[in-house]
Amino acid sequence: MRNMTQLLYELKTLLINQMDDSKGRMEDTSFLKKLVLAICDAFEAEEVTYFKVDNSQQHLHIEASSKHYQDRKDIRIANFSLFNDCEPYAYNDFQIEELKDFQLYLPLKSEDELVGLLALKEGIPGSFEKITLEEGEAFSREVMKILNAAIHISEITSERRRYKKLFRVTEKIHSSMSMDAVLGEIIQTLQEVYPSFTYYLLLTHDNTNHEDLPIKDLGYDSENVAVMQAFVTGTVQIEDELIARKTNLYAPLKGKQGVYGVLQVIAPNARMFPEKEVEFITLLANTAGGALENAQLYQQSRRLISDLQFINETSHKLNLNLRLSETMEFMKEQIMHSFHADEAGFVFVLPDGTANFLPGSSEFFSSDQTGLYVDFLKEKIGSTTESLFIGDMHLKLPEKDVKYRSMMVVPMIESDQIHGYALVLHKDSYYFSFETFKLLQSLIHHTSLALANSMLREELEKMVITDHLTGLYSRSYLDEKMLESLKKDHNGTFILVDIDNFKKVNDTYGHQIGDEILIQVSMIIQSSIRETDIGARWGGEELAIYLPNVSIQVGQGIAQRIQERVSEQTNPKVTISCGVSYWTNQNRDHVKALFKRADDALYVAKNTGKNKVLVQK
Ligand code: GH3
Ligand code: MG
Ligand code: MG
Repeated sequence: MRNMTQLLYELKTLLINQMDDSKGRMEDTSFLKKLVLAICDAFEAEEVTYFKVDNSQQHLHIEASSKHYQDRKDIRIANFSLFNDCEPYAYNDFQIEELKDFQLYLPLKSEDELVGLLALKEGIPGSFEKITLEEGEAFSREVMKILNAAIHISEITSERRRYKKLFRVTEKIHSSMSMDAVLGEIIQTLQEVYPSFTYYLLLTHDNTNHEDLPIKDLGYDSENVAVMQAFVTGTVQIEDELIARKTNLYAPLKGKQGVYGVLQVIAPNARMFPEKEVEFITLLANTAGGALENAQLYQQSRRLISDLQFINETSHKLNLNLRLSETMEFMKEQIMHSFHADEAGFVFVLPDGTANFLPGSSEFFSSDQTGLYVDFLKEKIGSTTESLFIGDMHLKLPEKDVKYRSMMVVPMIESDQIHGYALVLHKDSYYFSFETFKLLQSLIHHTSLALANSMLREELEKMVITDHLTGLYSRSYLDEKMLESLKKDHNGTFILVDIDNFKKVNDTYGHQIGDEILIQVSMIIQSSIRETDIGARWGGEELAIYLPNVSIQVGQGIAQRIQERVSEQTNPKVTISCGVSYWTNQNRDHVKALFKRADDALYVAKNTGKNKVLVQK
């Protein structure tokens, strides 16, 4: 055993040199290793190992040893008071199995608490017994002083480094408006400062794709009480998982307006988080919360601006006096494109409950599969002006075969009147965000006026071209369409219809029943011809039908069918007589000549028994 004063002098020199070399990394194991080796040398020991005490976990961690680390393991000791009560310098009489290799311990205490243990193993048997109690005590105290100084310096410098990093990262975070960049920066900083920890970001309804970021969903129904506690109370929570031997720290990502998620830090080996680390992580989490808030507000304001632009453009386009079908077509395109919808349709529900889809609705709405959605809409909305936001139709109608799971319905209201509903669908459940729903509401709200105008204008136009009593087209419209057809089509058939003995009907049943008969005949005509054909009121009780691109053979057949149906289906029963004229490609007639020839044929029909169809040859 060498001179103790000499040894202490050496150890202090070691400390000073290390401070100089390592720029403060005193807890660095290289210093401890040197320390241990110097002691080993001075005591002529076989082994010197420095254990650090983890009081909370009742563990002795090997911090440095003159031997290879692999030769020794951390030691679990149930009763630390053994060391606490012992003299600052103790010869082995504890009978602790795990420490039986060592003959001498130097318990290192700080403020009366055991913080470490230097354990020495004799090189020459009995040599330790020569060290006096005073020498041992003095040595323990001095080594403690050196270690304390080393730890203290190390703490100050590592803290300085951490705060420097915090400052740098704060600066960087606040200059960024991207959430991803902010989150990435936080994780990276933490990994640099505490590389042995694992990190997760638990975020609420996060639906963006972050590459390479350890993000987990923070469900409100999370079973983890500590996470929820951190999120709800906005305070740091620490949770020890004794079985898994790890400790979780949950720091809320807190901004001025709320908590945006929770940072989870997992420390291995059930290690306690010292106050300083908690403080640092909290600071970082708060910085992150503030930055996240800024980034979110920024993204929100950008979205609002683009939403407004979208609504503005759409309303502008709609106010250009488009036809209703064009208006709806444009609206559908806007909705499908902007909301990535699968289907968009516009329905109006008549007082009798039947639903009509406006032209412009996407193809699905002309199929017979829409009933399910319309029935649901009618039942849920009724006569209220509410909108519907359904995440999963399957949950609402579990027994039905639901093709589209996400559904949004917004009423089109103008002057307190519901004109119809916009219906937007997507195959996937929970496809539309609430933001999308709000945007759809704004869009429909701002375009309902243009829509109502389009509808009104077209109703007005229809009124001009239709006959009020029969619902058939007006004579002027018929004239116009026949002129057009004679120019562009290949052939056509014209049928003039006159009710037989109508004066007598009026005389027998009264004018009102006469009117009803007229309507009945008109409806038979309407249901016997196609949409491109024109059924018109010629004047009085005379009606006319023009069939563009229809040959006389077919046209005559249609006239006969109508004549038969009238005689069978009217009540009180009436019959009609028809005069038919036609034109072909070889013989392009004038409208007037077609009228005249049909009228001539009708005249003959009337004079040859009525209730018949005659073609003018
Ligand atoms: P037929 O054509 O078989 O020769 O005999 P008719 O009795 O039908 O004779 P005509 O066609 O000349 O008679 C037209 C009558 O139809 C005159 C008028 O009282 C009646 N009438 C014309 N327009 C209307 C109408 O809008 N409503 C009703 N109730 N009657 C009408
Ligand atoms: Mg007549
Ligand atoms: Mg008549």
